[in-house]
Amino acid sequence: MTNRPRMVLLGRQGAGKGTQAGRIASHYGVPHLSTGDIFRDAAKKGTPLGLQAAGYMERGELIPDDVVLGVIRDLFDSGEIADGFVFDGFPRTAAQGRELSAILEAHGLALDIVVDLDVSTEIVLHRLAGRRVCTGCGATYHVDAPPTHPWVCDNCGGTVVQREDDTEAAIARRLELYEAETAPLSDFYRQLGLLVSVDGVGTTDEVSARLIDAIDAALAGPSAAAG
Ligand code: AMP
Repeated sequence: MTNRPRMVLLGRQGAGKGTQAGRIASHYGVPHLSTGDIFRDAAKKGTPLGLQAAGYMERGELIPDDVVLGVIRDLFDSGEIADGFVFDGFPRTAAQGRELSAILEAHGLALDIVVDLDVSTEIVLHRLAGRRVCTGCGATYHVDAPPTHPWVCDNCGGTVVQREDDTEAAIARRLELYEAETAPLSDFYRQLGLLVSVDGVGTTDEVSARLIDAIDAALAGPSAAAG
């Protein structure tokens, strides 16, 4: 029995997946794999992958499944993530979910748990419209909770900006896509008996504690994880 989860964190944009996936990763000592971060980084560096991804990201559209799955196959082929991982922002479509199952099976691996971090559309709209992100370390702020010195990151001194895809039009498109493409993934994982819903409203510490309880229960055994 492993004490390191192999897991997926689902939830609307703005539900707090990035923050919580980072905390889960530190708690269990597993990599935090955000496909959004991987694509943003590639776009910043101007790699071929980044050039392919940039237009889709700016419009708030999903990057085609074959491009995303190429990145995921490379991660598993590297062998570095076999001992546990937390995926954040992947899978995003039912096809990606099915393909992840196939890739895991080919490597003799399986998911321990899929968590749906539940926050209503109304709340995420408010969070996303006011969200500001550090270009240096990725720390997130909100116009209602800015860094001490405007707009300089408290953690690393980097510049804090609005993400290009946090404009009103792109936010509306991303949330629409979430309902259409990503919400059906919950059904897919519910049918596999892997899905646990965790309330994502509360302080960061409260939500982390709920997540860790849910993950520990799943790691303790399948009967404890059912829910
Ligand atoms: P995120 O930071 O997770 O909101 O991702 C930012 C953008 O990256 C998304 O709006 C998509 O354009 C792209 N992206 C990230 N992950 C995926 C994925 N699994 N499938 C398709 N597009 C993705």
